[in-house]
Amino acid sequence: MSRLVVVSNRTADLRKAAAGGLAVAVKESLQQTGGMWFGWSGKIRDAAPESDSETSVRLQTIGNIQLATLDLNQQDYDSYYLGYANDVLWPVFHYRLDLANFDVRFAAGYRRVNQLFARKLLPLLRPDDIIWVHDYHLIPLAAELRAMGCGNRIGFFLHVPMPPPLIMAAIPEHEWLMRSLFAYDLAGFQSEADVTHFTHYVESEAGADALPGAQLRAFNRTLRVGAYPIGIDVDEFAALAQDREGVEMFDRMRQEYSRRRLLLGVDRLDYSKGLPQRVHAFRELLANYPENRNSATLIQIASPSREDVGAYDDLRREMDSLCGAINGDFGELDWMPVRYIHRNVARKRLPGLYRASRVALVTPLRDGMNLVAKEFIAAQDPGDPGVLVLSRFAGAAEQLKEALLVNPYDTHGTAHVIQRALTMSIEERISRHTALMGRIRQFDVHWWSSSFLRDLLAAERSDDREPVPGHSADRAS
Ligand code: UDP
Repeated sequence: MSRLVVVSNRTADLRKAAAGGLAVAVKESLQQTGGMWFGWSGKIRDAAPESDSETSVRLQTIGNIQLATLDLNQQDYDSYYLGYANDVLWPVFHYRLDLANFDVRFAAGYRRVNQLFARKLLPLLRPDDIIWVHDYHLIPLAAELRAMGCGNRIGFFLHVPMPPPLIMAAIPEHEWLMRSLFAYDLAGFQSEADVTHFTHYVESEAGADALPGAQLRAFNRTLRVGAYPIGIDVDEFAALAQDREGVEMFDRMRQEYSRRRLLLGVDRLDYSKGLPQRVHAFRELLANYPENRNSATLIQIASPSREDVGAYDDLRREMDSLCGAINGDFGELDWMPVRYIHRNVARKRLPGLYRASRVALVTPLRDGMNLVAKEFIAAQDPGDPGVLVLSRFAGAAEQLKEALLVNPYDTHGTAHVIQRALTMSIEERISRHTALMGRIRQFDVHWWSSSFLRDLLAAERSDDREPVPGHSADRAS
């Protein structure tokens, strides 16, 4: 049987619970099949920027997974990770052209690290390995591997949204970036909308032809595309809610908030998550529906993220000030409307918190999928479930139609929907929850990885093994 080789920017610590959508899902799917996980160690080494001669790959076996990690030097970290990946691709893929930093030097660092990954991965590969590359940090990795002679099956999954062509065209070197996807055998996206955006882009910018069987033909290569909405391990998560820690957390919350109605947000502190808009909507709820004063309490967990990127600092200050103002304006001696926690909460403690909450506010301005929405559903008591308020701009909205969908930019409308969630009858809550639970169970994390890998194995191979134009071994750096 072929071995699975997963490549992502960072590998996760396999001994600890992973945080972050990609890490959680990759770890859960890799543990099913066994295989190798290749990526950056998270460490920065002192070294001359141009040489990677001393960058060695560290190998470590944990259970049925072999971890292969390498360090980056400071210059690569700055231009590849902080620069092109998180100061260009992340904001543009989330439609935030206003926050992107179009520094032309970043693209070279991004290409250099993708070449470094390819050079270091290639000697570890066996001929029948199946390679699965994850996310926006590594879009050109297959093109670099092909240029070095790699003929393995390679699939790519984009965890973030694919923007429409006009927005994509704002990215420096966007033609090169999108062309490089044709070095893969399969490109998977979170939603049908993402597949449509990519198809429109390559049809209009590269004259690609759509072929039967979800295939696109351009640059003398054939690429299969598809939507594979990422899921969670529903049973594992529901079981976590019944674990000692899950039950303790639930009991504590129920006791503490016995006279209150709990609303919950769990996010990385990221501008794509719509946190200030959410606090504004909660403020409108208190202002327009006064029966919620002294009662509704919003717990907002905002786990620290990418603190080296400037835009995140501004967001942190904005959240401090908004939460402070709402507590100052509406708080009572025995009631604070917002509990804002700028810390990571261990994943095993989340199910109890989800279960104790009447309403979850999952209102990103833009999100590839959003696993918190699915975790909230999985953790509910089916006999007395909470209500999911979900942004229509989250990838999850394509699947989770029985949630209450909102436009997070419309704070007035969102406040109205939150009020509807707080006053929903138990019959309606149960009927919506039953439908949502059925959907997340059918399309869980095992479905996600097995359907992607099944299609990768079935994808017709491109008829030539020539490098994709613009990528060749001698075009290093
Ligand atoms: N998470 C966590 N602790 C926190 C915040 C988040 O364990 O304090 C986990 C959460 O349970 C979920 C993941 O991180 O599994 C976030 O994934 P999601 O798809 O919602 O968003 P992303 O962070 O990938 O943009």
